Amino acid sequence: MQVPERDARAIMPTYGRLPLDITHGEGAYIFDRAGNRYLDLFGGLAVNLLGNAHPRMVAAAEKQLRLYAHLSNYFAQEPQVLLAERLKELTGYPAVYFCNSGTEAAEAAVKLARKWGSTRSKTTLIGFSGAFHGRSMSPLSLMSHAPYREGYQPFLDGCLHLPWNDTAALERSVHSDTAAVFLEPIQGEGGIVPASETFIEALSRLREKYGFLIVADEVQTGVGRTGTFLAADPGLLRPDVVMLAKGIGGGLPLGALLVREELSGVFGRGGHGSTFGGNPVACAAGLAVLDVIRDEKLMARALHIGETFMNAMRAFAQESSHMIVDVRGRGCMIGIELAAPAYPVLRRCLEQGVLINVTRERVIRLLPPLILSDEQCDVAVETLRGCIPAAFEDAA
Ligand code: PLP
Repeated sequence: MQVPERDARAIMPTYGRLPLDITHGEGAYIFDRAGNRYLDLFGGLAVNLLGNAHPRMVAAAEKQLRLYAHLSNYFAQEPQVLLAERLKELTGYPAVYFCNSGTEAAEAAVKLARKWGSTRSKTTLIGFSGAFHGRSMSPLSLMSHAPYREGYQPFLDGCLHLPWNDTAALERSVHSDTAAVFLEPIQGEGGIVPASETFIEALSRLREKYGFLIVADEVQTGVGRTGTFLAADPGLLRPDVVMLAKGIGGGLPLGALLVREELSGVFGRGGHGSTFGGNPVACAAGLAVLDVIRDEKLMARALHIGETFMNAMRAFAQESSHMIVDVRGRGCMIGIELAAPAYPVLRRCLEQGVLINVTRERVIRLLPPLILSDEQCDVAVETLRGCIPAAFEDAA
C-alpha cells in the first residue's frame, strides 16, 4: 500500500490531502516517489521562504541539534536570544515572546490583550470577516467564516466581528471598552485581500482616540514574503503587537509575538509560557533563513517575482476577463480570483508539474519561495495561461 492510502487509514481525516506522495524537495521543486518533479508555488503554505533543503538552513539546524535539541524555558538559550536580537534589529520591536505556531501566537496575543485590558476596563476584541488567525478557541472566536466555527460554540465572550475594510462599521463599533483589534495586513486564507489605506488610517486614528491595541497578524505576510520584513506599512500603521509564525522557523515549528516596550511586562513571570516555545533548533534554523534573506537580498527578489508574475497575469487577464476577475497581492503572496471554482485549474497544473493552492474556492493562491528564478516564474505564468482556459473549457 502507498503512503497516501496508509495515511487515510492511520491519520484522522482533518485535511483534504493533495494526491501526491512526496519524498523530498530541493530549492523550488518537490519530487514524488515516482520521480516526478513539481514546481512548488504552494510553498508549504507560506512557510518555505527558501524553498526546500537550503544548505545554510540545514547546516544551522544540524549544528544546533548536535548541541542541544531542547533545554527548557527555565534556561536562557543562545539561539532564542540571537533570533530575538535580529528581530529587534529588523523591526524595532524591543521584546519577543516565542511560541510554536501561528495559532499559539494568536492565543498569546488574545491573552496579552485581555490581561492588558483587565486593568483598564477594556474587554472587547475585534476581528474581521475573511480573517484567519488559527484553529484554537481564541483565534476561532475572532473569526467569522462559518466552516471553521461550526460545532465549536460557545466561543470566547466579548468578541466582535466586523466586515473587512468597512471603515464606517469600524467607526461605529470601537469604543473605550475595546481592548484590541486583530487584522492581517493582507488577508491570506480570506483570498489575498489587502487592508485598504483608508481603513488603516481610520484604525490608527481610532486608536489615538480610544487607546486600544492593534494586533497585526503577520503569520502569512511576514518575514519578507511581501518585499518588506513586515507587510504593515510603518508609515501608516505601527501595530502594538505583531504575530509571526510560518516562515520564521525555516520550516520548523516556531511562532513569535513582537510587542512594543510598554507591553513587554504584561504577562509577567509565569503569566504565560510553553514547553517548546522558541525551540532552539527552530530558532537556529530561523536565524539562518534571515541571514540568507539578507545576504541574497531576497526581499527585493520577492518584490521582483511578484511584479513580474502579476504583470504577466494581468496582461493575460485583460484577454480573459470572462475567466479572471482580479489579480492581486504583493511580493510572493499572490491571488488570482477566477469567475469559477479554481480546483480544476489546480488539478490541471498538477498534471503539468506545477503545484498551486486554492483558497475561498475561486482564488488561486501562490506562495512561492523567495528564491524562485526568472525562468521558474515564466514556467509558472505559462502553465497558468494554459491551465486556466483548459479548465474553463472542461467545465463548459
Ligand atoms: N494567522 C494567519 C494569517 C495564518 O495564515 C495562519 C495559518 O494559515 C495562522 C494564523 C495559524 O497558523 P498555524 O497554522 O501555524 O497555527
